[in-house]
Amino acid sequence: MKPIIIIGAGIGGLSTAIRLAAAGRKVLVLEQSETVGGKMGQIRRDGFRWDTGPSVITMRHVLEELFAVAGRRLEDYLTLLPVEPLTRYFYPDGTRLDATRDLSRMAAQIAALDERDVEGCLSYLAYAARLHRITGPVFIYDRPPTWRSFTRVPPADALRVDAWRSMDAAIRSFVRSPHLRQLLGRFATYVGGSPYQAPATLNVIAHVELTGGVWYPQGGIYAIAAALARLAEELGVEIRTGCPVRQIVLAGNTVQGVLLSDGTLEPAETVVANVDVATVYQTLLPPAIATPRRLAHLTRVEPSCSGFILLLGVAGRHERLAHHNIFFSNDYRREFDDIFRRGVPPDAPTIYVAITSKSDPAHAPAGGENWFVLVNAPALDSRYDWMAQATVYRDQILIRLADFGLDIRGKIQTEQMLTPLDLARLTGAWRGAFYGASPNSPFIAFRRPHNRAPDVRGLYFTGGTTHPGGGVPMVMLSGKVVANLIAADRR
Ligand SMILES: Cc1cc2nc3c(=O)[nH]c(=O)nc-3n(C[C@H](O)[C@H](O)[C@H](O)COP(=O)(O)OP(=O)(O)OC[C@H]3O[C@@H](n4cnc5c(N)ncnc54)[C@H](O)[C@@H]3O)c2cc1C
Repeated sequence: MKPIIIIGAGIGGLSTAIRLAAAGRKVLVLEQSETVGGKMGQIRRDGFRWDTGPSVITMRHVLEELFAVAGRRLEDYLTLLPVEPLTRYFYPDGTRLDATRDLSRMAAQIAALDERDVEGCLSYLAYAARLHRITGPVFIYDRPPTWRSFTRVPPADALRVDAWRSMDAAIRSFVRSPHLRQLLGRFATYVGGSPYQAPATLNVIAHVELTGGVWYPQGGIYAIAAALARLAEELGVEIRTGCPVRQIVLAGNTVQGVLLSDGTLEPAETVVANVDVATVYQTLLPPAIATPRRLAHLTRVEPSCSGFILLLGVAGRHERLAHHNIFFSNDYRREFDDIFRRGVPPDAPTIYVAITSKSDPAHAPAGGENWFVLVNAPALDSRYDWMAQATVYRDQILIRLADFGLDIRGKIQTEQMLTPLDLARLTGAWRGAFYGASPNSPFIAFRRPHNRAPDVRGLYFTGGTTHPGGGVPMVMLSGKVVANLIAADRR
């Protein structure tokens, strides 16, 4: 029996492999890098260790379900610890707020900002929970939505999907405090969007995090990639790393296999690409399929944001900081205008700092901390030259941290920069975008490339650039969608 070939051992590829193998299919995963995980990477240097991609894991139930499908228990592979506070927020005026699932503590902090916002925030959370109930079955947990499937939503609920105003407009209708508005708007960035453009429907993300919590796998986020690879191999999946695919081989418009960069042909009737869909068409499919029209259709979509990353080994313990920290900018709207309209990284950006050594002391030498510093930035764009500007931008970020009372410039023991160029090179991310297409359109759920290629028989897509979208839990769910589609197509 020819195996199903999966190109890429990102979280989408591994999740798909697990589901297919659990259903009795023979699966071969071909990964170009020497390690699995894709964007979920890790780097070790000078006694420090960093996760280089995702740092906030939500929707624990999605992981649990993936292990359950394979007849295993998540707890036997991963120790997921709840993170508290969820995130510590620092504002330029000196305000500090710990987002927490502890309701009375959260309410007290909100009351200190504006007493009326306690009610406002509770109503907002009820609204976000309702969005999850209504949109989950159509947009998240099942096949790609169609206008037809959307008509199955009861009319009263369909009107409450709230796609016609922005996230920010909805947030403003619930809460008054500018601090709280900025905090809730930030959830747009979880899928690479702007709170001023993304549809209010995405307020569902606040429900997922503030109600469902944030989870940290002991050992680091990379433990998830390692656990999925282990499970896949236990189920009989063959994972070949250091094995780039050069081409998807077709006869007419039917998959015949894949050609490896060493010239070997691996035959298959079914190929699942975990590579960005635009990159698949641009680099892996022949011109007869990747026509100029098709390429234009895929590449004219606005990409989600990318980011600029500093991995810093810092001397000393910073007791003011938590595991997840946000240092907000003064002008949030301008920041997103810079990213999505001007195509340049914001000069006074919001800065995210994750320090896993707060939860896992082994991630830094004694007396040190491993800082993962992330700033949202535009996807690669001719208006900004990272080769020329990255070092200057790094200095700007360190100055901004110093403005918040965290001058670490004399304490950096080791460091590495990652720009959108690196992300594009290392994972094949189209224009270095973190989450595929930007969610700044009310119709994005209908416009994402389908998990089944429309023009190639036997080709499927899994991962963050296809349905249901970017982010670790979504990408795991794309594996479920693909496995179900393949099973249905076989029948
Ligand atoms: C810096 C950063 C921070 C993030 N933060 C979060 C977060 O906090 N929470 C969250 O949920 N999500 C976050 N995300 C998003 C999340 O990481 C992604 O949505 C998810 O990991 C994408 O997985 P994927 O399966 O789509 O593909 P990828 O991870 O992109 O994997 C694709 C794989 O395909 C391989 N490949 C490409 N071309 C070939 C080829 N020709 N042959 C063989 N192999 C090939 C690549 O090497 C790669 O391993 C973040 C992303 C980044 C980059």
